[in-house]
Amino acid sequence: MTNNADITNLVEQWVRPEIRGLSAYKVADAAGLLKLDAMENPFGLPDSIKTESGDLLRQVPVNRYPDPHGKEIKQALRTLYGLPTHIEMLFGNGSDEIIQILAMTLGGSGRTILAVEPSFVMYKMVAGFTGCDYSGVPLTEDFQIDLEATLKAIQETRPAIVFVAQPNNPTGNLFDEEAIREIIRRAPGVVVVDEAYTAFTDADCLPWLQEFDNLLVMRTFSKVGLAGLRFGMLFGRAEWLQELDKVRLPYNINSLTQSVVAASLAQFDTLLQQTELLRKERSFLIQNLRRLQTLKVYPSEANFVLVKLPHGARKFFENLRERGVLIKLLDGGHPLLAECIRITVSTREENLALLEAFMAACTELDIH
Ligand SMILES: *Cc1c(COP(=O)(O)O)cnc(C)c1O
Repeated sequence: MTNNADITNLVEQWVRPEIRGLSAYKVADAAGLLKLDAMENPFGLPDSIKTESGDLLRQVPVNRYPDPHGKEIKQALRTLYGLPTHIEMLFGNGSDEIIQILAMTLGGSGRTILAVEPSFVMYKMVAGFTGCDYSGVPLTEDFQIDLEATLKAIQETRPAIVFVAQPNNPTGNLFDEEAIREIIRRAPGVVVVDEAYTAFTDADCLPWLQEFDNLLVMRTFSKVGLAGLRFGMLFGRAEWLQELDKVRLPYNINSLTQSVVAASLAQFDTLLQQTELLRKERSFLIQNLRRLQTLKVYPSEANFVLVKLPHGARKFFENLRERGVLIKLLDGGHPLLAECIRITVSTREENLALLEAFMAACTELDIH
């Protein structure tokens, strides 16, 4: 055993300085709270899928390694999304892992990852882990792509990867499609359109894969009720995916996950019925929040709503937590998110509970 000073020295000597400079991704403790902070589906697995996967899980040979290619799921997805043969798939332990695979394959020292901001924080974090340069281009005041600034940054930094979330998290809006197309045309490397919220919008970039060789489309089952399974997908030209597949760890999707994903895909309509309900609940929540004149309630194409308070977002967040409701405080991150909070859309019952606590907190904090 070494003493404390020695271990501190060792860590300082060997952990890469850019890692020591980071802080670990924080997940708020939600024990005992109404959890509306992480865009989870509130319904739980439909009974019919539960029964089906229960039977399957009993038969999973967990003593064996999982199928390294997820062949059964690939076949089901090819049908579900109508993928042409020249489009391939790669699966990740959540799309978070796919972002990491992309950065390890295309990034590295002296290469740049570019994203608009504010957007999904993992793009920047993974750039940091993997030793890539990172370029963040601010969105406009109304959270649209500043095309001129973005194209200029693309020209200057020649990014290996550009990430665009459509719709965007945490702002909830869709970007102008022509702006995204222009970015794809002008980017020297790959553009990844992250469609994590595809179930909550009619926007769809998968057909664009026919048109652009440097486009990859990423999706996940986390936001449709399977967050705990960790299953993300990347779609694109086989030429790219073959290379990315070399970096993917061979057994990254465990056999239990593969089994439940396959069962869920066989009854995907049942999951989409839940998201259909959530789309209606989103309108209900937005309408009710808009009754308060001093709030700015942004339009949303996702399963969450971004709200800008007139003042005191942190106090408001804490007040709501004391009332038993956990939402996401965004104030303190990007300057465009000053006084902003993000609320996950839930069931009618939970939305009503949120609204009651929300209105009470507003009254107490003098927000009208
Ligand atoms: C939630 C989210 C993800 C992460 O999804 P996982 O598959 O759970 O890792 C990716 N991108 C965006 C924009 C998200 O909001």
